[in-house]
Amino acid sequence: MATKTYAAIELLGDGIGPELSQAVHLVAEKGLPFALEWRPVDISVANREKRGAALYDEAVKGIEKVGVALKHPTATVKESPNQVLRKRLNLQVIHRPVQTIPGVPTNFKADVDLDVVRVATGGTYDDPGRAIGDEAAVSLRIVEKEPCRQAAIFAFELARKTKKTVTSSSKHTIQRATDGLFESVVNEVAESYPEVQHKVELFDALLAKLVLKPQAFTIALVLNEYGDFLSDMACGLIGSLGIGASGNYGFDKERRVRVALFDAAHGTAPDIAGQGKANPTAIFLAFALMLYHLGEVRAGSAVKNAALELLKEGKSTPDVGGKLTTMEFAELVAQRAKAKIGDSSWTSRTLKMQKDKVEPRRPDGSPFFEMKGPQ
Ligand code: NAD
Repeated sequence: MATKTYAAIELLGDGIGPELSQAVHLVAEKGLPFALEWRPVDISVANREKRGAALYDEAVKGIEKVGVALKHPTATVKESPNQVLRKRLNLQVIHRPVQTIPGVPTNFKADVDLDVVRVATGGTYDDPGRAIGDEAAVSLRIVEKEPCRQAAIFAFELARKTKKTVTSSSKHTIQRATDGLFESVVNEVAESYPEVQHKVELFDALLAKLVLKPQAFTIALVLNEYGDFLSDMACGLIGSLGIGASGNYGFDKERRVRVALFDAAHGTAPDIAGQGKANPTAIFLAFALMLYHLGEVRAGSAVKNAALELLKEGKSTPDVGGKLTTMEFAELVAQRAKAKIGDSSWTSRTLKMQKDKVEPRRPDGSPFFEMKGPQ
């Protein structure tokens, strides 16, 4: 019988990157009922120095062809590979789910379950600012309709699928031209989703309200820099900047996802590299997002829940108080994910929410998986 096989580009990185790669491969091989055909592109510092721009050309070409990539952390030396890839792949939307992780110690006692959907371009981050003499500087903040529209559509689609509420947030009362434009585009998009509840909050008020009543906010739709601040604050609330993952998306003219790149929030952790101490939870969460994107929602949910349950039980790596090595933890995640997928009575919150049938396709209409010969 032919096994369903998904092709994915794997961007190999620095520091703990190789250990994380091994851990993901183990979970994919031992935990999932389909195959992943990893197509590696090594974007570590050493290879970047050796191959220069040709390496990014190869990575971009591969990702454009396959449509999906998992990226491991990379050291920023001259350029930031994240920024280069974001620009070269025209990634317009960043989705960062932030969810309380039982077992991870936190100062904040309430549960957080927030999807931050961020316009990936513009704002003050594409700022051609300059000094004015010695005593002042000027900054230019750019907001364009199209990336706002794309992020809004992503947020409302996510809300429709997951039965969540969209809160768009900015400082539209003060930044009238830029943030006002953002909110007007969001309102236009909201009209096409009458079934989705849409609220508007000023960004400063949102931060306070999120701390006071986190359960009132499920999807926050924001401009680039607000998204950066909000993601980090939300991660602080759940007790860890490190155990987060993102999906970065680029779209075609028909607004279908053209390319998707998934990565962990943390860096290369050079202080523990090569010691088997790296916590692979964040890369597993990134992998789970990738599986959702491929339409394998049950498998993605199983990988995510397996890792989170183990953390809750204290079966974890030393950074979060456990005694397991990276690969011991990965082995347990694989076993538990497999058991969940095989257990017909198992269901997760994500699965309950994702009632719509997901049939993801590449922009050319072909399915993501590639059938291999008889096995
Ligand atoms: P870092 O996230 O690599 O490390 C901060 C601390 O967290 C360290 O003590 C580290 O050991 C620990 N840590 C991080 N990830 C961990 C994991 N998975 N398991 C256990 N412990 C973990 O941040 P940094 O030290 O500021 O940056 C180091 C390098 O990473 C820099 O070169 C930076 O450019 C790069 N970086 C890359 C990315 C990315 O590729 N997405 C993101 C951030 C930083």
